[in-house]
Amino acid sequence: MVLRERIAEHVYDFRSGLYAQVNAGLVVTPEGCVVIDTLPFPQETQEIIRFVKNRLRARVRYLILTHSHADHVYGAYLFPEAEVIAHLRCRDLMVKQTRPALLEAQQRNLALADVQLRLPSMLIEREATLRLGNFTLVLHHSPGHAPDVITVYVKEEKVLFASDTVMPVPYFVYGNIADMRRSIQAIKQMAPVEDVVQGHGEVLLRGEVDSVLDAQLAYLDCVEGHVNRILAEGGGRAELDAVSLEDCGLSRIALDGFGLQLHRANLYFLYGQARKQAAKPAG
Ligand SMILES: [Zn+2]
Repeated sequence: MVLRERIAEHVYDFRSGLYAQVNAGLVVTPEGCVVIDTLPFPQETQEIIRFVKNRLRARVRYLILTHSHADHVYGAYLFPEAEVIAHLRCRDLMVKQTRPALLEAQQRNLALADVQLRLPSMLIEREATLRLGNFTLVLHHSPGHAPDVITVYVKEEKVLFASDTVMPVPYFVYGNIADMRRSIQAIKQMAPVEDVVQGHGEVLLRGEVDSVLDAQLAYLDCVEGHVNRILAEGGGRAELDAVSLEDCGLSRIALDGFGLQLHRANLYFLYGQARKQAAKPAG
């Protein structure tokens, strides 16, 4: 079941009920629609397509993929008529990582049997503006969660699709924590934003955006602080496991418990990175 939410007059959000509350977006213009990301399973992406076709009687002109991760791109092949836009690193990563991972996933999961990887053909680097039917979509490179993440700002509606730069538990093991901090700060500087659609989880409303972003930055400082302390004390896995999500200001039930896995992975990742750094021969 996909949860559909109208978040502005011409903007919709579709949230996966099957996997990690992934969000996909839809901007409706007089010249056609722009879809931002797809949902993990074809049957869920089909719900977006049916809505556009049957309810709006419109067509999809562009599909923006915010990064190469499976849960956001698997439905792209269902939009053959749309031009696919992404960061230029996204295309590389899809070929090198998403494609082999898909073939493997298809062995295990019948629901993915029909998925074919559709690669982006319009590639952006730092920033790009898409104009369609009186709407302005500003695309920004926003690395941290992964090197190829882009955010999409719908100017006329003041809605930001923040992709996985903003999620209930920041997750940076495919990118790095320093970039993630910068990218979250860049969103804080963006003006003016009314609603933020996170890559996963509930849509953030005007009044809560700032405090959520501050909590995310505090979380990043907190996990880094704990990892540094544990390293200094000669601790290991047991000590990392003792750091709870609540210790770093976030909810244990984030993303139906999935957030806890992300948190653990963040801690191990930082710890491994720091150990590797320390093991490098001097000079
Ligand atoms: Zn994601």
